[in-house]
Amino acid sequence: MKIYQNVSLKGFHTFHVEVTAKTFIELEQFEEIDYILDNLQATLLFILGGGSNVLFLKQPEVVLRVNFRGIHIVDENEDFVWLSAKAGEPWDDFVAYCVSQGWGGLENLSLIPGTVGASPIQNIGAYGVEVKDTIWKVNAIHLLTGVRKSFYAKDCNFSYRDSYFKQHPDEKWLIYEVIYKLTKKHHRYNISYGNLATEFKEKPVSLQSIRQFVIQQRQSKLPDPDEYGNAGSFFKNPVVDITKLNDLKKIDSSVPYFEHQDGNYKVPAAWLIEKAGLKGIRYGNVGTFPRQPLVIVNYGGASSQEIFDFSAFIIQTVVEKFGIELEREVNVFK
Ligand code: FAD
Ligand code: NAP
Repeated sequence: MKIYQNVSLKGFHTFHVEVTAKTFIELEQFEEIDYILDNLQATLLFILGGGSNVLFLKQPEVVLRVNFRGIHIVDENEDFVWLSAKAGEPWDDFVAYCVSQGWGGLENLSLIPGTVGASPIQNIGAYGVEVKDTIWKVNAIHLLTGVRKSFYAKDCNFSYRDSYFKQHPDEKWLIYEVIYKLTKKHHRYNISYGNLATEFKEKPVSLQSIRQFVIQQRQSKLPDPDEYGNAGSFFKNPVVDITKLNDLKKIDSSVPYFEHQDGNYKVPAAWLIEKAGLKGIRYGNVGTFPRQPLVIVNYGGASSQEIFDFSAFIIQTVVEKFGIELEREVNVFK
């Protein structure tokens, strides 16, 4: 374990905003948590993974960076493998490893930044797949009491970019291990999503070819956080009922939408932002990325408050145009 005082977090989160942690602790081994439980007030702790989905509006007192590493097979049969990964494993290295072993289920989630430990937090999703479909259980420790608990997928309350953990940040569950159930054969390739469907109409599909295609798509559309600080999609795609959808169609009949659960519809937030005239705009050091306006970028030197105020301006403008209030997907620490 390493403990530092007054550490700049600029290099530890992908918005690359200047913010300081009073105490910064790098946890290398699970056993080191005992020190945290015995010596620190849990309510002051902020758990950090790769920092690719956070905006620090205030200075955190104590940052715990979870670096536990390790991948091992828990169980397997002819068809499936139950695979454990420790929280600090870089997500895309883990996906690459699974694909190289011929284990299916995570390939559509290639090149998402961050760590294994954060993957259940917002039930990461992309290209028609959500991680909840592969999660067997999540092992976590309750920092307020030291109690350890296994959350099976059904206990995680997973929904669209959401989970029990995201809904209850004050409960301070530190996820130290996630166990995934992956296919060894009869892979259920998910290629129904837009560009994937076109790409694999005639080409052979495999775990590797899906991964390569997703990587290429993402690299062509999304900003590299090391070039332009960002946290991916800043807002969730709103889910609306049929009445609201019909209202939107009256405002603009070209509105795209996708069937969601319970007879509701998902409308791409990027489309709403673009139609509100906000695609590629820039105010000072902050803007919407020209190739994907759902991503707010720090063009350099932006403060967290500037980014937050810019996001509030987007929310307000979209409300005025469409009567829909966008919800922030990024975890705002305030
Ligand atoms: P952090 O940003 O460090 O933390 C996020 C939240 O999880 C915080 O509240 C933190 O306290 C909590 N947390 C982190 N680790 C733990 C732990 N071990 N135990 C308990 N709590 C923890 N997301 C998608 O869903 N799909 C995408 O396609 C996608 N694309 C992206 C593209 C780019 C360019 C970027 C910058 C982000 C993208 N994201 C995407 C968002 C982000 O990568 C994911 O949400 C990722 O899972 C965050 O992981 P992290 O380790 O960086 O978490
Ligand atoms: P896109 O393909 O341009 O699609 C725009 C939106 O339409 C997406 O938000 C997507 O919703 C929805 N969509 C498209 N085809 C769909 C289908 N067949 N069924 C249901 N919904 C469909 O999106 P993109 O910006 O290039 O991103 C590609 C994927 O990567 C998306 O899944 C996106 O969520 C993910 N991504 C996420 C983040 C993040 O930070 N959360 C950042 C970058 C990319 P969904 O978003 O629900 O898929």
